[in-house]
Amino acid sequence: MDNIDGSQSTQNQQANPSWNYHPELPMKVSAVFSWPPKPVKIIAWFAKSWLVPSERTLWLAFAFATWIWLMPPVEQMKTLTWSWVLFIYLRNLISAIVVATVMHLYFHTFKRQGLRLRYEKRHLTEHGKNRRFTFNNQLLDNMFWTLASGVTIWTAFEVLYFLAFANGFMPTLEWSQNPVWFLALFVLIPLWSSVHFYWVHRMIHWPPLYNMAHSVHHRNIITGPWSGLSMHPIEHLIYFSSIILHVFVDTHPAHMLFHLYLLSLNPMAEHSGYEGLEVKERNRFDLGNFFHQLHHRHFKCNYGSAEMPWDKWFGSFHDGTPEASKRIQKRPW
Ligand SMILES: [Zn+2]
Ligand SMILES: [Zn+2]
Repeated sequence: MDNIDGSQSTQNQQANPSWNYHPELPMKVSAVFSWPPKPVKIIAWFAKSWLVPSERTLWLAFAFATWIWLMPPVEQMKTLTWSWVLFIYLRNLISAIVVATVMHLYFHTFKRQGLRLRYEKRHLTEHGKNRRFTFNNQLLDNMFWTLASGVTIWTAFEVLYFLAFANGFMPTLEWSQNPVWFLALFVLIPLWSSVHFYWVHRMIHWPPLYNMAHSVHHRNIITGPWSGLSMHPIEHLIYFSSIILHVFVDTHPAHMLFHLYLLSLNPMAEHSGYEGLEVKERNRFDLGNFFHQLHHRHFKCNYGSAEMPWDKWFGSFHDGTPEASKRIQKRPW
C-alpha cells in the first residue's frame, strides 16, 4: 500500500523505518559461501543475475556489442596513436553520459517513479546544494569527477590492455578452446571484482587515504547515478586495478570489456538510489544496491558487496536492521 507521499508501506517496511524502502531484512548475502552448502539457494542466487534480464546480462550484451562493432582494428592498436585512443575515449565518454543521464532524468529530474522503491526518504535535489561539493553542487561535482577522472582512467586501463593484446602480450582465450570455462569466467569475474573491491575499499578507509582520496566519493550520502563513478583519481587508479586479473588469467577481450563495464557503468545503476525500475507496480529490473547504500549512510560497514561475505567474516556486515546500526557505530573505522 502506498502512503500519501508515494512511499511504500509494506509489512517489510516496519523492520527499519529510517528508510523509505528497503529489501527484506535482515539482508541476505550470497548463498554460495554458506556452510553446509545449499544447492537450491546457490542456483537461485546465480539465476537472479544471469537467467533474467539484469544488470549482468546488460553489461554482457554491451561487452559483446563493443567487441563486435565498436573496437578499432586490432592491427591499428599495435602502435599507440591518438586516433584509436581517442575513439575508445569518446566511446566510453558517450556511454557514461548516456547511462547516467537517462537514469538521472528519469528518477531525479522528472521523478517518474516518485518514492516508489526509493531507499532514502529525501530526494537527491534536497541534498544537492551543499558547500562540501565541488562547485557547491552535487550533480556538477559528480559529473566532474566521473568525466574528468573516471572516464580518463578507465580509458587508460583499456588502452593499455588493448595495446598489449594487439602485440600478443596478453594471455588469451577463445570460445573454441574451452566453451564451458569461457562462460564460467563471466560468472567468476564479478566474484573476483568483489574480492578486490573489499580489500582496496578497506585500504582507502585508512584515515590518511580516506582524507586524501576516498572522501570525494563519500560526499554523497544520498546518492544518484552520477555518484557511482564520482571518485578522486587516486581512488580510480586503485579501483580499476581490478583488471590486473587479465594479466594472470587467460581471457577473451569480451571478458575484459565486461569487467570494465562492471566497474564503470554498473556503479551508476547501483548508486541510482532505487531498488529497481518499476513497471505496472512491480520491480521489473533490479538497479540499486542496498548493501552499498548502507555504506553511504553508516560508512564503517559493508566495504565489499553481497556477492562475497567478507564483511560477515570480518565483523563489518550491516544487515540493514536498527540493531546492526548500533553495533556498527561502535567500530573504530
Ligand atoms: Zn559508493
Ligand atoms: Zn567507502
